[in-house]
Amino acid sequence: MTLQLRVYVPEHPLIKHWLSVARDANTPPVLFKSAMNELGRWLTYEAVRNWLPTLDTVIQTPLTECSATFVNPEIPVGIVPILRAGLALLDEVQKVLPIAAVYHLGLARDESTLEPACYLNKLPNRFDSQTRIVILEPMLATGGSIMMAMKEVTSRGVQPELVRIVSIVAAPPALRKLSEHYPGLEIYTAIIDEGLNSKGYIVPGLGDAGDRAFGT
Ligand code: URA
Repeated sequence: MTLQLRVYVPEHPLIKHWLSVARDANTPPVLFKSAMNELGRWLTYEAVRNWLPTLDTVIQTPLTECSATFVNPEIPVGIVPILRAGLALLDEVQKVLPIAAVYHLGLARDESTLEPACYLNKLPNRFDSQTRIVILEPMLATGGSIMMAMKEVTSRGVQPELVRIVSIVAAPPALRKLSEHYPGLEIYTAIIDEGLNSKGYIVPGLGDAGDRAFGT
């Protein structure tokens, strides 16, 4: 079977609405962060649909016995927010996945080379091979940061097929790189934009997601 990168852009009025709020240059930081959180929540809801392992059992309602399905607490789930911008999604994503551990990964982009450098890595040395990971990377632009994050996660034992990327705006250069190296991967994003400008920003995009979320 040939694996292929799958990029999902859920067709939903709430996703369109919050994306438009986030894109608008007049949106103040507090509202921008709310919009990113809303997008993080709905996109994660979609991303975990056929991915979160469940457990079938039988429970007792106040009236009778009934079959029931729970999220399987035995299978480890992790969220990897890429700092800083990934933090703008985290609060709502944690509400969707309350059992997940959060492993922060701080990557800063060198503005001259556009290459990322890691300044914080809270990933464990090794993950259980069944671990499901959601990476929060709002802007898939050149692909430098997400490729570094994928390497850090998969080199610690996570299978690429068990990774879901939640992004807000994705651009073709990052998608091409991911497709080349991780063909079994699934990405959930609010939109795929046209491309990048000479400074590596996504166009039309929404600007610098970290600066806009934190008012810097
Ligand atoms: N990072 C951002 O925050 N915005 C972009 O457009 C590209 C990378």
